[in-house]
Amino acid sequence: MTLPFAEWLPRQRWYAGRNRRQTAVSAAAITALRADLELVLLDVSYADGSTERYQVVVLWSAEKRTDYPDIATIGAVRGRTAYDALYDAASVRHLLELCGAGATRGDVAFSVEPGVGLPVDAPSRVSGAEQSNTSVVFGDQAILKVFRRVNVGINPDIELNRVLGNIGNRHVARLLASFETTWDGQPCPLGMVTVFAAGSAEGWALGTAAAGRHYAGGAGDFTEASHQLGQAVASVHAALAAELGTASGTFPVDSALARLDSACAEVPELSPYQPRIADIFKSVAGQEIVVQRIHGDLHLGQVLRTPTGWLVIDFEGEPGAPLEERRRPDSPLRDVAGMLRSYEYAAFQPLVGRGGQDISAALEWSGHNRGAFCDGYADLAGFDPRQAAKVLAAYELDKAVYETAYEARYRADWLPIPLRSIGTLTGATGPD
Ligand code: ATP
Ligand code: MG
Repeated sequence: MTLPFAEWLPRQRWYAGRNRRQTAVSAAAITALRADLELVLLDVSYADGSTERYQVVVLWSAEKRTDYPDIATIGAVRGRTAYDALYDAASVRHLLELCGAGATRGDVAFSVEPGVGLPVDAPSRVSGAEQSNTSVVFGDQAILKVFRRVNVGINPDIELNRVLGNIGNRHVARLLASFETTWDGQPCPLGMVTVFAAGSAEGWALGTAAAGRHYAGGAGDFTEASHQLGQAVASVHAALAAELGTASGTFPVDSALARLDSACAEVPELSPYQPRIADIFKSVAGQEIVVQRIHGDLHLGQVLRTPTGWLVIDFEGEPGAPLEERRRPDSPLRDVAGMLRSYEYAAFQPLVGRGGQDISAALEWSGHNRGAFCDGYADLAGFDPRQAAKVLAAYELDKAVYETAYEARYRADWLPIPLRSIGTLTGATGPD
């Protein structure tokens, strides 16, 4: 390894190893895509014994490029500089062309969905919303998402977008192309291209802005949008059930209890609620519920409002979990609970750091929108998620418990948001 990946990786937003001590970085595979372009898979090892594999497409240049952001400059070796190729228009265009041609380069196979033409001539830009992956937008037509942490197995984002796109569901961004490699003989997805929703806005931005306007006495009504969002989510659930089937299952009580234990170990404020939360989980354990493929990580940041309606995006589930686990059927109530928690967050977010004022306004905004979402869902699904009140509450609690651990670790200011909900969901006015 001659390039300084060990130093470069921790500077990347999508690098997940910041809280661990890195012990080694090695190239597991280098595939030449063009004379100056390499697809590199990096294995990172940590002192705690964990490992991760990352994808970096490397552009080599004999000249120092002045148009390149510092963050995307990896380093220099023998007079050539290596760059993160996703910031180079010609390189990302080449990736799209390889997809369009259904090309194979070494162990990397590119493919395009039947009948699709890709916008290779459109101007490209790296999406500013870069998070766990890196996305490149082509004109207002397509978005290429390059997976950063790669895993063996079927990627649910590719899989479910393909299934839902094939039947013409209006609430997903249709899959256009994808590329993958192999890892120990198994498929290993690397990236995907979907239709770009031009003129769209994220549900989270819209929701928090509406809540803020409501508190300021302005036009903060979001219930019509929430009603339509409920319908959209129900439509996606119905399509997934019809295409991929349903089965009988139960609330995953063991994993919920395990998450509860580990969150309590990290968050002292949660411990007083532990017995009551555990009782609620156990009380629904034996109840038979319908399970199916779901989104798995649904919240207002995973939905886009386009000029024609709502889109549900990012079906990849929790990036840290193995792909098999993320594809496990679960109750649609988990997704509904994710949205309900998100409304609670959107309602309280504008108040973070502003003391205890306006709590009743936040509860009112959240209550109205949660209600409108469930009404919309019930309209289309033919059943009201609120009728499964106990199981729904168990899923909401499971999510809120996870949130307390997250907030305690990263955003202590926000910890009161899930704690307050836990108090309500467990029927407590305060800890015992
Ligand atoms: P996260 O870390 O939040 O899971 P991610 O890297 O998995 O993010 P996505 O959530 O799929 O990526 O997309 C990131 C952002 O890119 C979205 O929030 C949205 O703003 C934009 N985006 C994604 N898909 C589309 C699309 N089809 N049309 C328009 N914008 C999109
Ligand atoms: Mg994601």
